[in-house]
Amino acid sequence: MSIADNAKRIIERVSQAAVRSGRTPEDVTLVAASKMNSAENVRAAFDAGIKVFGENRVQEMLEKMALGAYDGAQIHMIGALQKNKVRNIAGKVDLIQSVDSLALMQEISKRAAAQGAVQNVLLEVNIGREESKSGVYAEELDELAAAASGLEGVHVAGLMTIPPASAEKLMSRKYFDEMRKLFVDIETKKYDNVTMKILSMGMSDDFEEAIFAGATMVRVGSAIFGERDYSHPV
Ligand SMILES: *Cc1c(COP(=O)(O)O)cnc(C)c1O
Repeated sequence: MSIADNAKRIIERVSQAAVRSGRTPEDVTLVAASKMNSAENVRAAFDAGIKVFGENRVQEMLEKMALGAYDGAQIHMIGALQKNKVRNIAGKVDLIQSVDSLALMQEISKRAAAQGAVQNVLLEVNIGREESKSGVYAEELDELAAAASGLEGVHVAGLMTIPPASAEKLMSRKYFDEMRKLFVDIETKKYDNVTMKILSMGMSDDFEEAIFAGATMVRVGSAIFGERDYSHPV
């Protein structure tokens, strides 16, 4: 299957899952996770109808951006972000999905405000409490969300998570349901400068379960681009 065929199929499956969960196709945004894929591959997915891309590494994103890979599309940072890389992307990307500390949010605030921009961000939650994963624990989320109220140049638009890899769809569903609860919970707190519009969860193996659980954004990589070849970094 070509990238174009895969992309069209995934767009269709996302739409169908949205409708089956009582929403419209427009209610769920498909982000193509294009790490380790060339600008050419990104363009192939764009031409097939993908309108949002997510990258994990700042350097890789900037290189592909310079090649025009994302022209006409939105670009999101979805990977772990170091503070010293923030100045390269603040105000340049449509969404930073991976904010997992107050220090990082403050840095984004400072860099975006200096450009007169407001950077939309998501707060990343480590819902499975895994040592190896970034994201705040559920009980730390309130404090981080509340801290956004004092920051210019940044707006919290929702939550993101990468749950533990699991062969069991029921296990993923449990984590997705927990995320949905947190999402609703934070919204009811009505923190200044925080709106719970985006719930980003679900990847190639479980994006339909995530949508059934309330995801408004899914991030799909290998199901569109094929398995990543880690022996040949882009
Ligand atoms: C790579 C990646 C994805 C997509 O993973 P696949 O299993 O290839 O669909 C989603 N989110 C993040 C943060 C990623 O790094």
